[in-house]
Amino acid sequence: MTTVETDTPGLAGRTILAVFAHPDDESVACGGTLARLADAGVRVVLLCASRGESGSTSDPSLVSDGDLGRVRAQELRDAAAVLGISDVLIFEHPDGDLRWADVPELHDEIVATIRRYRPDGVITFAEDGLYWHLDHIGIHERTYTAVLSLGADAPPLYYVTMPKGVMREVVEAAIASGWAPEDSSFWGIEPDAFGDEAKPPTFVVDVRDWVARKLAALRCHQTQMGARNPFAQIDETVARRCLGIEQFRRAPIETAGDSVLERLAEPVTSS
Ligand SMILES: [Zn+2]
Repeated sequence: MTTVETDTPGLAGRTILAVFAHPDDESVACGGTLARLADAGVRVVLLCASRGESGSTSDPSLVSDGDLGRVRAQELRDAAAVLGISDVLIFEHPDGDLRWADVPELHDEIVATIRRYRPDGVITFAEDGLYWHLDHIGIHERTYTAVLSLGADAPPLYYVTMPKGVMREVVEAAIASGWAPEDSSFWGIEPDAFGDEAKPPTFVVDVRDWVARKLAALRCHQTQMGARNPFAQIDETVARRCLGIEQFRRAPIETAGDSVLERLAEPVTSS
């Protein structure tokens, strides 16, 4: 079911580019916002720097040929279709080494993608990489320098962070619903690591009416969201409460473009 948004004028026909590291980052970090933008008529373009080939696999039978990158690339295309992302660009930089490998090439690809699509805004990770993931920090660095290099042509750049404590809430809700975790974690990551040291956002986007899509997109990433993952356990009611607010900070770069993402913005309320 698609929710068509009609109350956000000025977004139809605009373009937003999201730049992330692995298949699933887009859904975890800001799947609700991307779906809401798409519903408002925005062309949403996703650049994913790797195929996520070094990730975990929830169920080996999902990767019968052993090519996890191929499977995750398809999972990403499926998630993108759920979210309404129109263009998915998957590069094959080495998962696990994105901060150090292919630095000039990735810079050039991000610049070329911005020149090709002329986005009205770019979304990527903040300095904290959601939970200090070095690949995510690398993508933050490459995207920042790529946007900065465009000078007067630079589009507005937005950093997405996780609200502190939401992953703990997801875990606790999953446990309350009867889930028996093996290690209470997301891919072996301590839930409290998400958003722990993020700088405060400057605005938030209410995506409560889009959490069903966000959950559906997350679950397209089957190799990552197996039964052991708390995302597989929560229902829409819990998701509205835990995942219904996504938060952003605008990068301190002088840009000529007007504010597109801010049209969805609501003020930050202290939590
Ligand atoms: Zn990632």
